[in-house]
Amino acid sequence: MKLSEQVDELIERQLCQWPLVRDNYAALERLDLRSLSLDHSEVILQYNPERRRSSAARVDAVSLSQRPCFLCREHQPAEQETVEWGGRYKIQVNPYPIFPEHLTIASLEHTAQRLLPRRIDDLLQLAEELPSWVLFYNGPRAGASAPDHMHFQAGCQGFMPLCDEVLDPGLWPDDERLEAASDGFIGMTQRLGRPLFFIRCERKALAGFYLARLQLAMMQATGESVEPMQNILCWHDGDYHNVVVFPRRKHRPDCYGEGEGQLLLSPAAVDLGGVWTCASRRDYDTLNAGQIQHIYDEVCVDNATLVRIIDHFYQT
Ligand SMILES: [Zn+2]
Repeated sequence: MKLSEQVDELIERQLCQWPLVRDNYAALERLDLRSLSLDHSEVILQYNPERRRSSAARVDAVSLSQRPCFLCREHQPAEQETVEWGGRYKIQVNPYPIFPEHLTIASLEHTAQRLLPRRIDDLLQLAEELPSWVLFYNGPRAGASAPDHMHFQAGCQGFMPLCDEVLDPGLWPDDERLEAASDGFIGMTQRLGRPLFFIRCERKALAGFYLARLQLAMMQATGESVEPMQNILCWHDGDYHNVVVFPRRKHRPDCYGEGEGQLLLSPAAVDLGGVWTCASRRDYDTLNAGQIQHIYDEVCVDNATLVRIIDHFYQT
């Protein structure tokens, strides 16, 4: 059976057999949503109090060492079922969803969140085998709530506005492309309100090559030795491998918190994809486009860093 069919069956089974999943996915359908417009980009706000565990997760080394890892089998609920992939990953239904269908794809081993050296291929291959999904990756210091246990997530396509916005051919004239081949390109744009690199290639090998070079260029430009701070979206549309990389400079904005004048927002891949989950009712009611733009500007890399990344990309 194809992987996508196994996953469809997994979701059906878990919705029937696991009351927490059934309740949380039913609650998701009733969540309040509202939309904000940035200059060339849409943002959807979702009031989702169940996500507090993620938005407010403590990810410092001491907190991590003292909590049971929720991605390790021995700490997962008995009801949590798994579809294994490649002998290295387990695909599971995320019991605290943002998307109407939401998966966690975790390493079978408890091992640190890292993309390099070999997981770029895994990401592209999984996206190809799950054609109605968008996979995403949060760097260990850029929003991953389990930076000590390697995992991707996936949500259904058509949910994050950015995945459509970035396909606008008007964004990618020849001079916005860093490099192009007959069947694909890598480009950078700031016109969607946050700087991003976009890779769109028919050949998986070319997409992987661009992504690996970009990883090295980002590390060189920012002085990171293990992995750049980043969030990644990756999907396959039947013909093309699509990858969006958001280079980051800060994990949480200065306004992060629950006090007066603060916002409980901890942006990661889905937020940068245009869907902001608000765990706080006050944030959901009051957030405006200017505040979102300010947070994008604060947590994403600045212009000087972008220029350095591009310079290093050409040198690698
Ligand atoms: Zn673990």
